[in-house]
Amino acid sequence: MSHFDGVKDVHRVTDVYKLVSRSWRVGPTRIDLGDGVTIGGGAMTIMAGPCSIEDEKQVAETVDFLVSQGIHVMRGGAFKPRSSPYSFRGLGLEGLKMFASIARAKKIKVITEVLDVSTIEPMMEHVDIFQVGARNSQNFTLLDELGKVDKPVLLKRGLSGTLEELLQSAEYIFSKGNEKVILCERGIRTYEKAYRNTLDLNAVPYLKEKSHLPVVVDPSHGVGIRRYVPAMALAGTVAGADGLLIETHKCPEEALSDGAQTLSFQEASELFDKIKKLSQLELA
Ligand code: PEP
Ligand code: MN
Repeated sequence: MSHFDGVKDVHRVTDVYKLVSRSWRVGPTRIDLGDGVTIGGGAMTIMAGPCSIEDEKQVAETVDFLVSQGIHVMRGGAFKPRSSPYSFRGLGLEGLKMFASIARAKKIKVITEVLDVSTIEPMMEHVDIFQVGARNSQNFTLLDELGKVDKPVLLKRGLSGTLEELLQSAEYIFSKGNEKVILCERGIRTYEKAYRNTLDLNAVPYLKEKSHLPVVVDPSHGVGIRRYVPAMALAGTVAGADGLLIETHKCPEEALSDGAQTLSFQEASELFDKIKKLSQLELA
């Protein structure tokens, strides 16, 4: 076919996913969040903050902490997927607006979970990265709609999702036109009960070989136990992750969700120092 007029090159993409495959785009995708903040293509991007946005004081304290650490992206859920309907389910859109206005005043980017199609539009102007949670990893109507927006999407692996399923979910978003997709390993459900999930760090080199998209590791949900989070964050960094998603709170014991896996600012700061040192090393 390459002898046809106007055809420069021909690639057969045999993977079930196509556009997110390295066979289609060889070089790594770098996603630009503006103001010099990027994800993918070399540097390590740390995204940190509470599981849930709780109140103004908590957001302001976290923003100040991140600024002091040189971190440019804050996580915080306003729409929370909870196993029990009686658990705290987030402050919703008003909480997100408050979060974004405090964070952006200090040039901090906002990553937050979108639970359903109807909230994409109202959330749009207050979000820098839409997070698709593990429970929505195969919500194909949500993925289709996020394929139409001009905002990065961090897509988590499903609770028991295979990597091929994750890549096909990414393909839903990418093939609709949104090429700013970030893959996230957050642990899978296995027979092991000793910790919340099994963080599958094999996924990092695998995904980076198969796909050009950036790969982020979430050690907080991946292991689910505070004292093990730093080790797994460092392991993810060495495995080659482009970014980390880490839960931190001024007082984890008082957090309204996921306190048991949330680092205090002191613990987070010690971890960030180690990650910064590690990512400067040539590990290859
Ligand atoms: C979260 O990031 O707080 C969250 C709910 O994550 P996951 O979808 O991975 O469980
Ligand atoms: Mn959480």
